[in-house]
Amino acid sequence: MTQPVDTLFAGALVVTMDESERLFEDGSVAIRDGEIVAVGRRADLAHLESRETVDAAGKLLMPGLVNSHVHMADSLFRSLVEDLPLEPWLERLWISERAFVTHDNVELGARLALVEMIRCGTTTALDMFWFPEAGADAAVAAGFRLLTGPIFFDFEGPDGIAKEDRVSVGEAWLDKYADQPLIIPCVQPHNHITVSPEGMQAARRMADDAGVLFHTHCSETSTEVRQTQERFGRTPVGHLDDLGILDGPAVLAHCVHLTDDDFSRLQRTGAAAIHNPLSNLKLGSGIAPVARLLEEGVPVIVGTDGPVSSNDLDMWTAMRFAGLLQRGANQDPLLTPARDVVRMVTSVGAEALGLGDSIGRITEGRRADMILIDLDRPHLTPMFDPYAHLVYAVGRDDVRSVMIDGRFVMRDRALPTLDEETVLADVGLLAEKIRAHAATIGTA
Ligand SMILES: [Zn+2]
Repeated sequence: MTQPVDTLFAGALVVTMDESERLFEDGSVAIRDGEIVAVGRRADLAHLESRETVDAAGKLLMPGLVNSHVHMADSLFRSLVEDLPLEPWLERLWISERAFVTHDNVELGARLALVEMIRCGTTTALDMFWFPEAGADAAVAAGFRLLTGPIFFDFEGPDGIAKEDRVSVGEAWLDKYADQPLIIPCVQPHNHITVSPEGMQAARRMADDAGVLFHTHCSETSTEVRQTQERFGRTPVGHLDDLGILDGPAVLAHCVHLTDDDFSRLQRTGAAAIHNPLSNLKLGSGIAPVARLLEEGVPVIVGTDGPVSSNDLDMWTAMRFAGLLQRGANQDPLLTPARDVVRMVTSVGAEALGLGDSIGRITEGRRADMILIDLDRPHLTPMFDPYAHLVYAVGRDDVRSVMIDGRFVMRDRALPTLDEETVLADVGLLAEKIRAHAATIGTA
């Protein structure tokens, strides 16, 4: 007699995203100690004894969404700076960041982002922000799976860390979080304009020494491409590649402007492109050549970017734009099939972030990061193709329950690990100060 499982989801439409991408119409999934231990037809798992059975009839169960590029605590500045191109927009944003980015405020902004992301069905995110320990601690408290880690800038930022101290501070950070459950450390210089070639290479070495992922912005705007050409005589991708940055695991946010040579470099090195369609559109940066990246075999994953550039952290909108943009831009309705888009935010997303063995698929041996979606909605009825629904019709309000590592972080829309009311009230108080400060510098 096998020991009972902890949780049994019974009777769902299970979209596994496993190796053969099986679907179970009347399926069940069993979880023990945070791990998926059985997946199959309900009838085949009916013999399992379970401490708790969740009636999932009329619902869709799928892997939790992976948001591959976010700046969580920028949630504090949502809609503060609008209608500017990236470079002046960043300069303006950084004035407010310098005034309000403290450890405690970053933790508060992270909690707000976590509430939003969990409600959306996101179970893993890659976050780049000042005071990465504040984001990490907020994620641990919320039971959320987060990739984050030391950031690099050549100037002293709100964290007060001098350029020459970033390596030692970063190494201590990586040590501290090396064995923290749910936190996956990575190294993340902002980009190759704000960080010197030496700084980029130091960050790469740090990532290699710790055996962690390297994450940076790359080829976001045509201005950045021009500056890179002027300063280094090569494209952003060519610059990173020539510096040896792409020799180890790397994920590059944006990749909007790419040359033929860039495509072959990405293909050769295996670096993944993080597509942030909303942010690229809103800042007028362009449309990333996702269809061609896929055609060339470059892994494409999806992020929302921060809530100042794309205003919310809604992965369903990001998925929908990722699915639609290529078709419109190329006048080709066969590009980016819905199932490819679902892969970008589940199985492929997890693999590109180095988590392919632990999450991204509903299959035995993976950690139980899963979401339950209500299907009894007018905009989801009827359903002949679940992948098309997930990309073109499902929205964040359809997400009913969210499990991370076998633990419910949202259950029937209640959040057991976060005090949403307090978070919203605290952010409201801080926003009054941010508004007053912005008024003094004549921008609000
Ligand atoms: Zn970004």
